[in-house]
Amino acid sequence: MEEAKVGVFLSDCGGQIPKILDFEALTNFVKSVPGVALVARGSEFWRGQGLQTIVDAVKTKKINRVVVAETVPKISEVAISKAVERAGLNSHLVEVVDIKDHCAWPHRDMPKEATEKAKAMILAAIEKAKLMEPIDKAEFPSVKSVLVIGGGVAGMQAAEDLAEMGFQVYLVEKEPFLGGLAAKAVRFFPTDDCAICIQSPASLTAVTQTSRKCVYRSGLSEIPNLNILTNAKVVKVEGGPGNFKVTVERRPRYVDEKKCVACDLCTSVCPVESPDEYNARLSKRKAIYINKPLVYPPVYVIDAKACKFHACAKCVEVCPTKAINLDKKPEHLTLNVGSIIVATGFREYDPSVIKEYHYGEYPDVVTHLELARMLDAFGPTGGVPVRPSDGKPAKRVVFVQCVGSRDRRWNPYCSSICCMISLKHATMIKEAFPDTDLTICYIDIRATGREHEYYYEKAREMGVKFVKGRPSEIIHDPATNTLIVEVEDELLRRLLELEADLVVLATAMVPSEDAKELAQILGIELDQDGFFKEYNAKLRPTETKRRGIFICGGSVFPKDVPTASLHAHSAAVKAAKFLMNGKIVKDLRVAVVNQDYCGNCQFCPVTCPYGAITLEPKGEGHFAAKVSELLCEGCGVCVGTCPVGAIELRHLKPSQISAQIRALLAVNGTSKPLVLAFSCSECGHAAVDSSGMAMMSYPANVRVLRVPCTGIIQVHHILEAFKAGAQGVMVVGCKPDGCHYEVGSQKAKQKVEMAKMLLQAYGIEPERLEMFNLVFVEGDKFAEAAKAMTERVEKLGPLQFA
Ligand code: SF4
Ligand code: SF4
Repeated sequence: MEEAKVGVFLSDCGGQIPKILDFEALTNFVKSVPGVALVARGSEFWRGQGLQTIVDAVKTKKINRVVVAETVPKISEVAISKAVERAGLNSHLVEVVDIKDHCAWPHRDMPKEATEKAKAMILAAIEKAKLMEPIDKAEFPSVKSVLVIGGGVAGMQAAEDLAEMGFQVYLVEKEPFLGGLAAKAVRFFPTDDCAICIQSPASLTAVTQTSRKCVYRSGLSEIPNLNILTNAKVVKVEGGPGNFKVTVERRPRYVDEKKCVACDLCTSVCPVESPDEYNARLSKRKAIYINKPLVYPPVYVIDAKACKFHACAKCVEVCPTKAINLDKKPEHLTLNVGSIIVATGFREYDPSVIKEYHYGEYPDVVTHLELARMLDAFGPTGGVPVRPSDGKPAKRVVFVQCVGSRDRRWNPYCSSICCMISLKHATMIKEAFPDTDLTICYIDIRATGREHEYYYEKAREMGVKFVKGRPSEIIHDPATNTLIVEVEDELLRRLLELEADLVVLATAMVPSEDAKELAQILGIELDQDGFFKEYNAKLRPTETKRRGIFICGGSVFPKDVPTASLHAHSAAVKAAKFLMNGKIVKDLRVAVVNQDYCGNCQFCPVTCPYGAITLEPKGEGHFAAKVSELLCEGCGVCVGTCPVGAIELRHLKPSQISAQIRALLAVNGTSKPLVLAFSCSECGHAAVDSSGMAMMSYPANVRVLRVPCTGIIQVHHILEAFKAGAQGVMVVGCKPDGCHYEVGSQKAKQKVEMAKMLLQAYGIEPERLEMFNLVFVEGDKFAEAAKAMTERVEKLGPLQFA
């Protein structure tokens, strides 16, 4: 490594900070530090003349490491790094410290102490800089193709978007036809628009002969670059972001998509009848069938579970185009895609487990999906709500809300769309059959979307009745074939027995059946309710922790159609951004393993939140950990986990942590005991920043060492801090459930607990060590914690190291 020549640039923030910090003393101190080749003072160094000063020093090779004391570190770090790179220096040889918000503002009442702390902070930055090494960028080739899993509203939307942008798109749907749950829904709230219309492509090139977005008439299948694979599922995913190798299993349709002319002769001769899942099993279909109204593909399919195959083969004989082949076998296709979008939607919860509602026992207790099929003119009852028990029109209908949702016995969450579905169905029935008596039993009506409240008002005006209460039991009177819904009206405080011909259960919406299996195949996570988990719903919606894999629509949480479409657009744009250059360029700020030291304990592959570590064979039964440079996010959680110190971060080596610990504790200048605070770069450091920005004061003896994530901290770092002179140690990280690296905060907590036990064993008070979990806006809490820790260690007295 070349000899480090550090340039130190001290910004006085337009002359503000020197009123508190003694810049003369700072400059003289910095000049005396070995390895410092240049010290410059100015008003700002991240733009204008100040930045030019840095660039000139780099160009003339006076310096090869840059330390800047600036006031807006995040912005300045980016600007300075880019400028030095243009000047010929690796952009990672820059360290920026904030002596305003970490020093001048919070300690403005004690300028001497503040100056001493500034010296310590700058010294730590210099010592870290001296040990910095250039970090390269790597390029990973990526293919411009995307796999979309799930052919419902969201999946079709995302697939269409990407195909229109020029990507090769594979849309894989496990059912024989596209459309998903939405295709069965007849109409959508709050516009009462046709479900089939809304789900189809908006693309100008795809819509032919019509301005309506109708799936019958638009050429979804004609969109260039869009390959639709129905009756198919993903069974294996290998490779990585930019270059996934996906194995898709395609079940045989037995009917050739190119030959079938949808003449319907086959169904007329097929002798086998089966319950029609598309019509919620309220009607029957043949073993060879097609969904009506038609959705893509307009081609018949044979139900392999029902068909008698060669024992019958009547359809083969009658087919005029010889489209049917009963010997077809499943196919396996390998797709090479750069990115994957999951849009597998959600499904209705099976309410038969809720014994008091007798679903599955009383035929006239149905779900919303069953009612939706009845209300479809193409459906099993031709658009009339009937009692399935005898087929008679239902004149009295009671809706029961929150069935299996907002109920800790089944699903604690609110499914968010069921209130609106009940309102939609109630108004549809009222419009077509105004004499129908309709009652909705609800806990709260949640009509929170745009125009949803009008929809609710419309239902009331039409005469739909509302009873606030969750029914306790549904009883069947066999004498009259009437259902009786027992419910306590919470507003009127009386028990009601509502007579009904049909009871409609607004069931919870739950994750698709194969969500768990697919999550395992893709290596992504599910949330506590079993839906696919976004990396960060606020900051990185539709992303998962695995680069290149995105999620959208109802697979993330139940959504109405406009929201699912928006979500799908977002996922499509993210996938497009990810692949548009045909390569992924990444700074190698990642972990590296010294394989000679690796003891094959297998801790790190399990701990890495991004699945970036694998074990590779080294011969004779020995394995060693290996980090994927593409997948690694550089958090350091693995570093904190490795028991033998075999892993380190390129951007924060163990020697740099140690050097900073020593430097921060080398200068005191206060009468108070020194406290070292390890803070993560995310919420922890942001809380420290915000405390200074808001000019909250705390003692200057508290020194902050920033690490990428508190998960990197090991017990020996804490002991090292005590040994170097800290009387107390704080670990300041994100909230455990808000950690930017998922598990880092939790891992740090475990390390803190272990270190406390060790301290106790050494006769050192464990109270000298504490972990704090904060968010950005909790600068006040950081200031309070810093004060409390200082008072605590003052009370404990000087640390006695045996
Ligand atoms: S630094 Fe973080 S992301 Fe990278 S390998 Fe280690 S644990 Fe995984
Ligand atoms: S934690 Fe350390 S020793 Fe264990 S497998 Fe990973 S690198 Fe090897």
